[in-house]
Amino acid sequence: MTRHRAAILCLILALAGITIFVEGPWRWRLYGLASAAYLVVLTLGVSLIGLEFFGRAVCRGPAGKRRVALTFDDGPNPTVTPQVLKALRRLGVPATFFCLGERVLDHPDLARSIVAQGHLMGNHSHRHQWWLNFRGRRFMLQEIRSAQQAILSTTGTVPRYYRPPAGLTNPQVGPAARALELQVVGWTARGFDQFTASPSAIVRRIVRRTTDGSIIVLHDCGLPPERLLAVVEELVSTVRQSGLEFVRLDQLLEDLPGKSEPPGQR
Ligand SMILES: [Zn+2]
Repeated sequence: MTRHRAAILCLILALAGITIFVEGPWRWRLYGLASAAYLVVLTLGVSLIGLEFFGRAVCRGPAGKRRVALTFDDGPNPTVTPQVLKALRRLGVPATFFCLGERVLDHPDLARSIVAQGHLMGNHSHRHQWWLNFRGRRFMLQEIRSAQQAILSTTGTVPRYYRPPAGLTNPQVGPAARALELQVVGWTARGFDQFTASPSAIVRRIVRRTTDGSIIVLHDCGLPPERLLAVVEELVSTVRQSGLEFVRLDQLLEDLPGKSEPPGQR
């Protein structure tokens, strides 16, 4: 049973209990309190992918091999991505890029460079629409499928991982990803790099949450390239000093328990 279904069950039981045992004005107050509590839990479940509220979302890899995965969302971007690729090449860091289908089609050579340089490409939806999470399953499926086709036709690779825009989830995300044989992926550590000016503050925030098996998220779009390059430089150095090695997401997750389960399913 997903946590979402468990929350609905708790709400139904609470409402039934109030109906049976409480009379007068307190009955309506408690109806309101129970409904408000459910809405708070639902909002947290939608916003925080790590809660796995609607189903399985991989937010870290197995520990034991001293490995972490560095991921970049929202690209490819013609200003930022080439500089990131250059820095990763110099540092010898393999990474995973969760790309948007429409940006892959807009910058096909850049998308091919990402794959040609040994990085993994994941699906981050076609257009990164903020309201995608509030649309129906058919619309969501079409968005993910369009990105999948864009990446395949451009790079010749088929993504295996899907990260929903902004990490927002709903009951449709798992089934939609599963229909396209994609595994839903979140993250362990993020630095809010698009909203924080100081590279050191971003790195500190990420490093605090980074341990063996962590999935780190940065963005190769929506921030000045010099900020991102400073973050990558300092982050790679700090993480390596703690004895952790950078690998691609597929390598990090190769020993994940439950890997034989259908992707996206709890
Ligand atoms: Zn994004």
